[in-house]
Amino acid sequence: ALVGGLGAGALGGYFFGKKQGESAAEKYEKYWPRKIMMLFGAPGAGKGTQGPKIVDTLDIPQLSTGDMLREAVAAKTEVGKKAQAVMASGGLVSDEIVIGIIADRIKQPDCQSGFILDGFPRTLAQAQALDAMLAKNGEAVSLIVEFSVDPAVLEERICGRWMHKASGRSYHVKFTPPKSMKVGADGKVVPESMKDDLTGEALYQRSDDTAEALKTRLDAYKNQTLPILEHYKDKGIVKKVDGGKDIKDVWTEVQAKLVSK
Ligand code: AMP
Repeated sequence: ALVGGLGAGALGGYFFGKKQGESAAEKYEKYWPRKIMMLFGAPGAGKGTQGPKIVDTLDIPQLSTGDMLREAVAAKTEVGKKAQAVMASGGLVSDEIVIGIIADRIKQPDCQSGFILDGFPRTLAQAQALDAMLAKNGEAVSLIVEFSVDPAVLEERICGRWMHKASGRSYHVKFTPPKSMKVGADGKVVPESMKDDLTGEALYQRSDDTAEALKTRLDAYKNQTLPILEHYKDKGIVKKVDGGKDIKDVWTEVQAKLVSK
């Protein structure tokens, strides 16, 4: 009876201890590394299209420095005033500004389980600043999905793109037209007919989505952004997908890369 009593007590204590302790989900949050992902690719490669699907799958936010800067421009903040002209021409905003924006953003509670970087880092200096920020907490980038796309495809994608401001949803006159799209007698789309499928709100074209600004954006990508891949290559975290396929097929490839092995 004594032994049985002890056993029951010890067992009770064990279960009690478990109940008082952390749940599996809490332990995961506390001890496992955050998923820190980077979407990498030229303008029009599909980062903004595939990003929201990753958000839905992993429940972590997509942080787009381009979206944040466009909001700053619209709100006419100090950052917005500094960024406006260079963004319109397709050049890069200063490292100091975007590093500051990201440093503040990743401290927010919604980034607790991880985050997806879209459009950042764009220069080696930004990548190094990011690494240093993360290293302070013993963290590092865990996955880079590289969207590789033929440059000829990029121009067609960018120049036919229409965006919904509030959600960031993008449409394309040829590949993914909104249900409301009308084409005039001249064969051109009627701008007033371009409405978001879900909200019915007007779509707009980005001021830098022109063939001319795209040239500058692609130059910046090639000269300043691509070297970042070299920087992370040896860490074995860069996974390449063929971003030239259609949206569904690219998503199938991306999903396979999200699984940690
Ligand atoms: P995106 O929406 O990512 O194509 O960004 C639009 C524009 O915002 C870029 O062409 C740059 O002018 C600016 N921008 C966005 N992210 C960055 C960044 N990480 N570094 C510098 N400029 C950026």
